[in-house]
Amino acid sequence: MTGAIVCGAGTAGLAAAATLRGAGIEVIVLEQTGQIGASWRTRYDGLRLNTTGWMSTQPGFRASRRRYGEFPSRDAWVQYLEDYAAHHCVDVRFGTHVRRLEAANGGWRVETDRGDLQARFVVIATGFDHDPNLPDWPGCERRKLLREVGTLIAEDVRRNRLNRRPVYATADTALDAGATEVSSGAVAG
Ligand SMILES: Cc1cc2nc3c(=O)[nH]c(=O)nc-3n(C[C@H](O)[C@H](O)[C@H](O)COP(=O)(O)OP(=O)(O)OC[C@H]3O[C@@H](n4cnc5c(N)ncnc54)[C@H](O)[C@@H]3O)c2cc1C
Repeated sequence: MTGAIVCGAGTAGLAAAATLRGAGIEVIVLEQTGQIGASWRTRYDGLRLNTTGWMSTQPGFRASRRRYGEFPSRDAWVQYLEDYAAHHCVDVRFGTHVRRLEAANGGWRVETDRGDLQARFVVIATGFDHDPNLPDWPGCERRKLLREVGTLIAEDVRRNRLNRRPVYATADTALDAGATEVSSGAVAG
């Protein structure tokens, strides 16, 4: 039986794994994709963290301004997560989708698409904002829904298929999306 299994190699999963490892607990991280920080990698090109590097620093490895920038870009942040995992020698098993957890033998049985594992402790770090919550607006099903608003807008602008598109919201992603459109010569409203 392994000491601990962490589900998800994103920001939270890597921090949990490094902290557990630092406490002397053997840890395996199970990640469904083939890469660390998968959620960040698929976000839009122009993304910058709205938190500074020092505010976003994970336990035990500083996100230095010189190396990753004051407000790290998407790619700089992915690099930081890669460096973080390497720094802490985090053992990540890629391509492993966790399907189910069940209490067993004083610990947990973790059912994955690559077979079962046993661990004393399990951390679920599969992403609190991994799945977007799309409003149920009439007519939405006929439109191209914005799975992640910025990603699609950036793609559409690159392919020059849009010249006007509403952005509903004033939070960071919406403002980034609007700025992406404007800087690409499109009209944002
Ligand atoms: C556009 C955008 C901008 C953001 N900007 C900031 C910011 O500037 N600063 C900030 O602090 N936060 C920001 N956030 C929030 C940010 O997502 C969280 O702070 C943090 O990255 C979430 O980390 P996480 O590890 O919980 O999830 P994620 O990074 O989503 O990681 C979850 C991981 O679990 C894996 N996974 C999921 N299900 C399974 C499964 N069943 N089996 C195995 N693996 C699985 C996924 O593939 C993924 O790698 C932003 C979010 C968005 C959407």
